[in-house]
Amino acid sequence: MTKGKLSIVGAGPGAPDLITVRGKELVEEADIIVYAGSLVNPKVLSWGRSDAEVFNSAEMNLEEIIKVLSEGYQKGKKVVRLHTGDASIYGAIGEQMYYLDRLEIEYDIIPGVSSFLGAASSLKKELTVPEITQTVILSRCEGRTPVPERENLKSLAQHHSSMVLFLSATLAKKVEEDLLTSYPFDTPIAVVYKATWEEEKIYKGELSGLAKLMEDNNIKKTALIFIGEFLKPQETFSKLYDKGFTHMFRKGK
Ligand code: SAH
Repeated sequence: MTKGKLSIVGAGPGAPDLITVRGKELVEEADIIVYAGSLVNPKVLSWGRSDAEVFNSAEMNLEEIIKVLSEGYQKGKKVVRLHTGDASIYGAIGEQMYYLDRLEIEYDIIPGVSSFLGAASSLKKELTVPEITQTVILSRCEGRTPVPERENLKSLAQHHSSMVLFLSATLAKKVEEDLLTSYPFDTPIAVVYKATWEEEKIYKGELSGLAKLMEDNNIKKTALIFIGEFLKPQETFSKLYDKGFTHMFRKGK
């Protein structure tokens, strides 16, 4: 058996040129591409060879995806599994790797720019603001997909850290209610719709107006909700570039 090559590639948040150089090269040379249809920019697929076989995983179940990946690999083909953002964040790669490992199929994972990082760039904000918060919570609101009880939004809210919620656009009312049990009502929020795509939109407000903001602007998908003091104008500075601070590479004056 000639072994093929299987690469699980993060396509980035939306703008096609935010894929990594390595990811782009793999797309260009692939015989088979299986892409996450709802969120991967079609421009990324246009870099593929004209004779590449292309599958939209949004229309496939896990078994069908594994079949295409494994059969391609076993026939000696170059196979790319293209995920949105970075595959390790809500990418459901764990279950794909579970079956690939059982089938003794080797693969590489190529990181991608997650949508929360694309959106933070669009917001032009630092998520870890000196003295205000040094922690970022990435999570989601419980809907049809369960979230472990100890991670419910009410308990995560107690930290008052920077928070980014994925997959929660249709659950804004519950997000607002749960977070208001700890965050002050006027905590700044931002909703980024289709971050880094041409259609990107940014909405800003206060936590107590989150559900209304989502409803008024009819945002139901492809959005991230940012919550936290980090969205305010920054007044605290880090020690890193403080002229009086000595560290490994620079002596303070
Ligand atoms: N692996 C992806 C996340 C997949 S889960 C990543 O690293 O970004 C899908 C969720 O991601 C969507 O419901 C939405 O909350 C978020 N998302 C993905 N792309 C987005 C984008 N360009 N702008 C805003 N949110 C996005």
